Amino acid sequence: MSLRPSPISTTVDFDRDGVQHGYLKLPISTDESAWGAVMIPVSVIKNGEGPTALLTGGNHGDEYEGITALLKLTTTLEAAQIQGRVIIVPMMNLPAARAGKRTSGLDQGNLNRSFPGNPDGSPTEQIADYFTRYLVPLSDVVLDLHSGGRTLDIIPFAASHRLDNADQQRQALEGAIAFGAPAAMMMFELDAAKLFDTAVESQGKIFVATELGGGGTSTPQSLAITERGIHNFLVHYGVMKGELQTPEEPQTYIDMPDASCYVQSEHEGVLELTLALGEKVEAGQVIARVYDMTRCGVAPVEYHAQRDGLLVARRFPAQVKMGDTIAVIGAIVDRLDA
Ligand SMILES: [Zn+2]
Repeated sequence: MSLRPSPISTTVDFDRDGVQHGYLKLPISTDESAWGAVMIPVSVIKNGEGPTALLTGGNHGDEYEGITALLKLTTTLEAAQIQGRVIIVPMMNLPAARAGKRTSGLDQGNLNRSFPGNPDGSPTEQIADYFTRYLVPLSDVVLDLHSGGRTLDIIPFAASHRLDNADQQRQALEGAIAFGAPAAMMMFELDAAKLFDTAVESQGKIFVATELGGGGTSTPQSLAITERGIHNFLVHYGVMKGELQTPEEPQTYIDMPDASCYVQSEHEGVLELTLALGEKVEAGQVIARVYDMTRCGVAPVEYHAQRDGLLVARRFPAQVKMGDTIAVIGAIVDRLDA
C-alpha cells in the first residue's frame, strides 16, 4: 500500500548546520480557523557529520517532565556542543499538551496508540504518520520522554524492550542504563502494536523510553533527573561532546516479565495504597484497599501483590474505577541483559 505524502510541512531545514527553531505545520480547517494549522514547535541543532538523535516529549500532553526539560534544552543547546544532529520536539501531540490532557483536544486521539499513523486520518494519526515516515528515518537514536501524567505516579526510570534483534536490544538497553535514572528497566507493554516505540524499533532504530514521575506536574527532583538523563543519552550515543554524569546512588535494575506486574481495579471507590512508590513488596502482601463510597461500615476490598518486587507505579488520584491500574510491581534483578 503506498501512502500519499504527509500533509505536514516544516519551516526548518533538517540538513542545515546551526541552530534552528521552527514548526511542523499540520493543516486543519475549523470553525475558529478556516485555513488554519496546528503549529508544533521543533528545534534542529546540527554540526557537521555524526549520528542523529530525536528527542521527544508531550507524546501524552499531561506529562510535563519531558515537555519542560526539552523546552528548556531548546533555549541552551548550541551547535558547537553537537557532533551530528539533534531534533527536538517537546510536544509531539501539541493539541493534547495545549489542553493539558493525555489525549488531543482536537480529536481525542491518544498519539501513543495511533502509530504507525495515517496521512488521511485524524490530526493525531497524521502527526503519528509524520514521525513514522519522516522524522524516525532521519534518526539513529530516539529518546521518548514519558511520565505518569495526571493519573499515575511512577519511579523515575529509563527503559528498553525485548527485541528480536539482539544487537538492537543491547544497544537500546545500554542507552537506558546510561540515562542514569534511579532505575533502569526491561519493560513489558500491555499492548505494543500502536506505540511510537514499535514504530521506531521496527525501522531498526535505537529506542529508549522513560517514565519520570507523574501527577500532571514536575518537581525539582524529577526535572534534574530528566535533564541529566537527556545529557547522558546524547553523550552515550556520541551526539554530544562531554562526560557522562554518573548518579551517586547505585541504579536499581527492574524487569517486567509479564502482565502479572499490573494490578488493575475490579471495584470502584476510594483507594488506600499501603506502600509508597519505590517500596519493596512480597507476593501475597496487601498493597491496596478500596472503600465503598456509598455506605459506612463496609470492609474494604483488599488487593494483593501477585509477585515479589518493587512498587514502580501507582494510581495518582485517590478515586478508582473498574479497570484502572492501581499499582505496577516490577521484579528487582541483578542484571538486565538476560
Ligand atoms: Zn506517556
